[in-house]
Amino acid sequence: MLDLSFIRNHPDAVKEAARLKNNPIDIDALLALDQAVLTLQREVEEARAQQNQLSKRIQQASKEKNVELRTTLLAEAKGLAELIKEKEPQLTKLQEDRHQFLLLVPNIPDPSAPIGKDENDNVPFKYWGEKPSFDFEPLDHYDLMQKLNMVDIERAVKVAGSRSYVLKGDAARLELALMNFALDRIASKGFTPLIVPAMAREDCFIGNGQFPKGRDQVYELEGEDLYLVGTAEVPITGMYKDEIIKGEELPMTFVGFCPCFRKEAGTYGKDTRGVFRIHQFNKVEQYVICEADHNESVKWHEQLLKNSEELIQALGLPYRVVNVCTGDMGDGKVGMYDLECWVPSEGRYRETHSCSYFHDWQARRVNMRYRDAEGKVKFVHTLNNTAIASPRILIPLLEIHQQADGSVRIPDALRPYMGGQEYIRPR
Ligand code: AMP
Repeated sequence: MLDLSFIRNHPDAVKEAARLKNNPIDIDALLALDQAVLTLQREVEEARAQQNQLSKRIQQASKEKNVELRTTLLAEAKGLAELIKEKEPQLTKLQEDRHQFLLLVPNIPDPSAPIGKDENDNVPFKYWGEKPSFDFEPLDHYDLMQKLNMVDIERAVKVAGSRSYVLKGDAARLELALMNFALDRIASKGFTPLIVPAMAREDCFIGNGQFPKGRDQVYELEGEDLYLVGTAEVPITGMYKDEIIKGEELPMTFVGFCPCFRKEAGTYGKDTRGVFRIHQFNKVEQYVICEADHNESVKWHEQLLKNSEELIQALGLPYRVVNVCTGDMGDGKVGMYDLECWVPSEGRYRETHSCSYFHDWQARRVNMRYRDAEGKVKFVHTLNNTAIASPRILIPLLEIHQQADGSVRIPDALRPYMGGQEYIRPR
């Protein structure tokens, strides 16, 4: 959420941000609504001030036993009370409408973000690793997983419908190994490990920025104020709702694990093979809360990216990093990088990580503040990046490390988490 006074003072900057982010919001309508709130607020405040004055005058008239004046003033007071009674609910309603409107206003993208409409306009700026060349006919991840008895999608569909899967044997072990590996490596940098609830209340989703717009992507638990989270970012943002954090505790850095659930509405027919786009997966997420300083946010944004690059390098996966364009980054973000791993069977890079910074856009929605060195209370800045999301990461991992004999070499960095196992072989 942007600061309302910023929108009042810089309407053109906000309109431009909305245009760059393909957001059709009508900022003039918001400002007109804001004016209506301010006008009504003034009327109610004036009426209340008059009421106070009147009650003093009524007391005085009573003291002076001036019955006539007292009767006149009482009638006036009654009129004012009726006016306030009528206007106050109108004011509350208008304020709520303005708040709902504000939730839809996008953040201002950083000037360094490429201007563009969709993912086709994202700008790759870094490449790492050699794309493999195979001297045998390589398999795609799904064939590999089937040959190695690592997946059962047909039976999973009986249990949970389309876009579900059962990870079997070494895939189940590999998935947990990846989560442990990512959590350990990021924790070794001083990030606090968390296992967070996989369900959260509506206000956490609003705070995070996923509601009101992204409701269609989220599973709701019927009859409860609870929804299944699509990322640990939602519960971690919610943890500090309505808190004033001590300045000396910042930056706070977390590495949080939870299962993630996504409806994937609107993706019918897209990525239907294997485990690329599914309804449930596991993710270890990096999350940073820092002081309200652009340079501090930028510093952490780069650090979060670096952390994820180190993980992917340790797994030996070629990747590229793209600077995500304004039209593809989403409303809340100031800037965003995607890390994309090379998928040999598709002959292209596919997104495996998203690294974003928000300035105080999330903090304002969730009322997450801190007291700075001068004792001033300010909204914090928040950032997040994927550490590892699986089973999607199994796709490049299995394809890149497959061997001519049908086995898959386990990267050295993962072996300690796989009991020292070096290869996944057909059983
Ligand atoms: P996001 O929070 O949307 O930026 O996603 C972070 C990461 O989670 C992505 O880069 C993927 O690795 C993974 N991910 C997101 N959605 C899905 C999905 N439906 N199926 C599998 N993995 C996903």
